[in-house]
Parts: sequence; C-alpha cells; structure tokens
Amino acid sequence: MNDVARFQSGVPGSSLAGSLPHYASVEDVIQRERPVLPVYCLFPQRFVEAAARFKNFPGDAMYAVKANPAPQVLDQVHAAGTRHFDTASLAEIELIRRRFPDAHCHFMAPVRIVGAAHTAFHQHGVTDYVVDCDFELDKLLAETGGGKGVCIFVRISTPLGGALLELSSKFGTTQEDAARLLKRVVEAGVTPGLTFHVGSQCLSPLSYAKAIEMARRTAELAGIEIAALDIGGGFPGPYHNNDVPPHHSYFDAIREALAILPGQPRLMCEPGRALIAEGVSVITQVVLRKGDTLYLNDGIYGSFDELTLPGWTADYPLRVFRIDGEGHAAVQPMGRTPFRVYGPTCDTLDVLPKPLMLPDDIRPGDHIVVDAIGAYSVALRTNFNGFFPDKWVIVGN
Ligand SMILES: *Cc1c(COP(=O)(O)O)cnc(C)c1O
Repeated sequence: MNDVARFQSGVPGSSLAGSLPHYASVEDVIQRERPVLPVYCLFPQRFVEAAARFKNFPGDAMYAVKANPAPQVLDQVHAAGTRHFDTASLAEIELIRRRFPDAHCHFMAPVRIVGAAHTAFHQHGVTDYVVDCDFELDKLLAETGGGKGVCIFVRISTPLGGALLELSSKFGTTQEDAARLLKRVVEAGVTPGLTFHVGSQCLSPLSYAKAIEMARRTAELAGIEIAALDIGGGFPGPYHNNDVPPHHSYFDAIREALAILPGQPRLMCEPGRALIAEGVSVITQVVLRKGDTLYLNDGIYGSFDELTLPGWTADYPLRVFRIDGEGHAAVQPMGRTPFRVYGPTCDTLDVLPKPLMLPDDIRPGDHIVVDAIGAYSVALRTNFNGFFPDKWVIVGN
C-alpha cells in the first residue's frame, strides 16, 4: 500500500506516532490529501503553550490521561514538558510507564478494581492514591501494606459552581466525613492529603478558591496538617458560546486561596482538557446533503461524543473549506442556515444534538474543520459500524 492509499484506507495504526506526516497548515493537508476520512491535526506549538500556562501553578501539573490517551497526543504532552500523569487505571499506568520511563504516575481514581493498587504499588512504584470512603481506604491499606512513601488523598465533594460537567455526585464526601477519613489515614501511619474536582470545563476561578477553603476547613476539623493538596482538573478549553475567563484569573484565585493554608503542603493539579483541547483539530468531510441535512464522515460515535453530555452547552469552533478551481483549499464564509448533521453510522442516534450554522451553499466534498477537539473526543471514539477515526498528521512545527 502506498502512502496515499494508506492515508485513505483507514487501516488502524497506519499513522504511528513518531513517523507522522508533517504539513504547513490545515489547508495544506486538505489540498494535498483531499481526505475522505477524518484526520486529526496535531499542533505541537499549542501543546507547548498550554503546558507553559501551568508554570503559573505553584506545584506539579499532572496530565489526566483519560482526557485523551492516544499515543500521538501523549507524545505531544510529554514533548511539551509534562512529566506527571494522573493515571486512573492500571492500563493507563502501563501505557505511560511503557512510553515514558521518566514519567511519574499518580493513581487519582477514588474507586479501584480489586488488585489494581497492589500492582500499581508493588510493580510500578506508584505512591499517590485517592479514597472517599472506609471500604476503599481499607482495601488500599491492605493492597499497599500502607507501604513506605504512600500518600493517601481524601476526596471532598464540592458544589457545582460554574462547571459544565459536575464531578462531585459520583465521588467525594462531606468535609466532616473527610476529616474522619483523614484521621484514619494518619492513624494508619500514612501521609495525608486532600483532593477535589470542581467539575469539568469550569468557567469560574472562584470555584477553586471555595474548594481550597473547604479543604482548609476539613484539615482544621481533623486537627491535621495535610502534607499534600491536589486541586484536580476542570480548567476550561476555548470553546464558543461559553464565557471562558482568562487563564491567569484561575491561577490568581488559586494562589490567593492557597496562601491561607497552614504548613507547606505539596501542591498538585490534574488538568486534562486544558493541556490538550487546543492542540488537536479534526478535518471532516461532507458526504451528502439533503436539503438542510448533512451526512458527515464523523459523528457522535467518533469525535463528537462530548456534545451529547447532559449540561454540555459549548460549541467547537468551526471552519469550512472547499477546493477551488486551482486546487487550493479556500475558507468559505459561514451562512445563516442551521444544518442538522448526521454521522456516518447507520444509527439514527448518530446525529449532533444541536444544528450547526454552516455556509448556505455547503455541499458534498467540502471539509468542515473542527478546532479545539483534543479533549474527550478521541478518548471516546468507538469502531461502531466500522468507522474509527485514526489518521494523524502534524501541522506547523
Ligand atoms: C477527568 C478527571 C480529570 C481531568 O479533568 P478536566 O476537566 O479534563 O481537567 C482530573 N482528575 C480526575 C480525578 C478526573 O476524573
């Protein structure tokens, strides 16, 4: 199979990380490849910029692997300087360990499969863990033997304040209960920490300040000086129809809130989305138009699952390109027509939950480029009905 045939075939693994083709721009990919299958474009510079923002955080930023575990993306995150990873399953730990011998894994899921902590601790040397109840604490102490250097973070739940997707109903406990668990951690001779997650795509820097204050109060209730505080993820991506405050306002609010913590706890955060959203765009193609309905080569079983989540109101930035008479990919002006957009599978549910505003004369063959698609897209794709977007290119340098 030659390169072009390989490019159009959709053979999984046909674009392995490390040997990805490079292009100058998205237009360059479209005009040279005329891709009929979705193509993920990686922008190395955007990964570097995203990682650099977290230099304003006074601790370690761990990349939450679940946001996008594709090796092509992990390589960009690592190349941008990230060495700490929030690995929430054994498979994620093994993935990171194999790929980056210099990386540190932290097992920040509060509920673990039986035996996972045993393997993580004894085989991989992972020492950071999270609990939010007695059962998981007992299991964790038994599996690690309360081993040397183990740090156990108790997760508190935080109110939903400004995040699109809440993460405190499934996990986390009250401040009173967390204080009690914290005392048990100390009694077991293990290093105590606290953690929370304010919810994903959090649009309010104040949510972090309030949660840090809850952590301070929890430690005070327990009468314990915590050795570590992990403020979770939730930092937003730059979507449309979504008022994203400037990045520095998050770090300003966080620094100010941290100043009231007693002692000098080790500080960590767990950005997923914010480290990778902008680094990836996907080039899709219109397959068919019927009136104001479009059939696309990608859908909710591919890159667009996050659009279907309850509470999700943001829009990905869109651009539309058409190959003109000279063979150039030319950007098209957006129109006023809302289009219903179906994905490529035979399932009726495979439709975007909201119509897209696209050029009035959009037609088969046109390419819709969806920007800032790095988070919770690739991670959730399936191969349902034989469609599995997996073409990768590097754009820019
Ligand atoms: C999903 C998750 C993250 C990443 O959240 P983002 O909103 O993508 O930053 C971090 N920590 C935990 C425990 C998570 O479950």
